[in-house]
Amino acid sequence: MNSRSAYGSDHPIGVAVLGMGNVGTEVVRIIQNQTEDLRQRVGAALVLRGVAVRRPDVDRGIPAELLTTDAHALVARDDVDLVVEVMGGIDPARELIGAALSAGKSVVTANKALLADYTGELAAAALPSRADLYFEAAVAGAIPVVRPLIQSMSGDRVNRVVGIVNGTTNFILSAMDETGADYDETLAEATRLGYAEADPTADVEGFDAAAKAAILASLAFHTRVTAADVYREGISKITSEDMETAAAVGCTVKLLAICERVPGRPAAEEGGKDRISVRVYPALIPRKHPLSAVTGAFNAVVVEAENAGRLMFYGQGAGGAPTASAVMGDLVMAARNKFYGGRAPGESVYAELPIAPIGDTPTRYHVNLQVADRTGVLQEVAGEFARHGVSISTVRQEGSDEGARLVVVTHEAAESALADTVAALAELESVTSVTSVLRLEGTEE
Ligand code: NAP
Repeated sequence: MNSRSAYGSDHPIGVAVLGMGNVGTEVVRIIQNQTEDLRQRVGAALVLRGVAVRRPDVDRGIPAELLTTDAHALVARDDVDLVVEVMGGIDPARELIGAALSAGKSVVTANKALLADYTGELAAAALPSRADLYFEAAVAGAIPVVRPLIQSMSGDRVNRVVGIVNGTTNFILSAMDETGADYDETLAEATRLGYAEADPTADVEGFDAAAKAAILASLAFHTRVTAADVYREGISKITSEDMETAAAVGCTVKLLAICERVPGRPAAEEGGKDRISVRVYPALIPRKHPLSAVTGAFNAVVVEAENAGRLMFYGQGAGGAPTASAVMGDLVMAARNKFYGGRAPGESVYAELPIAPIGDTPTRYHVNLQVADRTGVLQEVAGEFARHGVSISTVRQEGSDEGARLVVVTHEAAESALADTVAALAELESVTSVTSVLRLEGTEE
């Protein structure tokens, strides 16, 4: 035993678990079933002091005396040294974590929604008391990506993080790609199979992915990024025609979380400072891109750094046991710090890079148009792109019963320039409709 530690064979490390749902149940199971391994890995035993729930009368297979509805009292107990927050939501999780950290009790949380907006506040609460705040499970479940960004890559310069970080939407898009079914039908199937919640809004409209993008961008760029800084579009407008269009050009559609360093312009314009772009939207990606192979409810995150090059992290991004694995890794780290007197890295926001507005963000686009089948139309359409400074990479024309279909793929263009182009195209007499506008990512492969 370490002679400096207050913990050891006579003094175990007390753990409170807040929430015993999908994740909490597995955390409690592991703490109870792996006591000896955990003791060996930490140096002192981890002892479960109590579990906070809303409904204490539900049989959860643990002694009833461990259950409480008074989470505040549990956190405040003298024999609780570490708190695992897996109840979710903003309140009361925010107050409970704040109270624990202020009292010097380290916290492990899986709560992305809370962290996306309140990491600064929680990190400040942890500073004076030297408590740790760990949150590996908040992004991409079992996949280690938070710790690599905070620790392994702390000597490198990250330029880009691109991920599939929401299993529900990836399940839906993969199924639409495989079966050709439309969005509503696939969502209903995902709900039936338990991949989508009864109210799927947080997943399908991209809120969950945006919270994770905010966390990833904060870590990658040493800048505080909140959910409100993330440009967000969900997948609910993706149609089976979009999937067909994607397939026709060797692509599939994925909901991507993209965190990118946008190099600073010359000093005279913006002080030369890099900016960051953080966005979540469905995009076409080539089938040969590594993220295209991430199907079903799986998650993956690709990190591109100046010296490391490209790293890819892949695995189960949700589910009770996978998420509990990440929580337990953090719990062991926090417990070791108690035992050996170490400390987790605190929040790093020194870079304070400004957020680039989405209008300035350059992306390639795939624009589908229904047009009149007559000569000169192609020139009119191409002229509108040119007039707005959007350079065309390829154009494909197909005949159809209602006229002709034009599929235009652009080089990189600013969102605002593309939006103006699309508005102008819609006004052209020769354009019957702008059927879809999809972003194209990953073509630098
Ligand atoms: P869940 O199944 O809904 O469980 C929530 C638990 O918290 C329940 O046991 C509930 O008690 C308890 N609870 C809620 N409000 C409470 C309150 N005010 N006081 C006391 N107990 C309260 O949630 P989950 O799926 O385990 O998710 C937990 C957290 O992990 C969330 O932040 C989520 O975003 C995050 N996460 C989840 C996953 C996943 O795959 N599920 C993956 C990554 C991250 P009752 O049981 O009595 O209702």
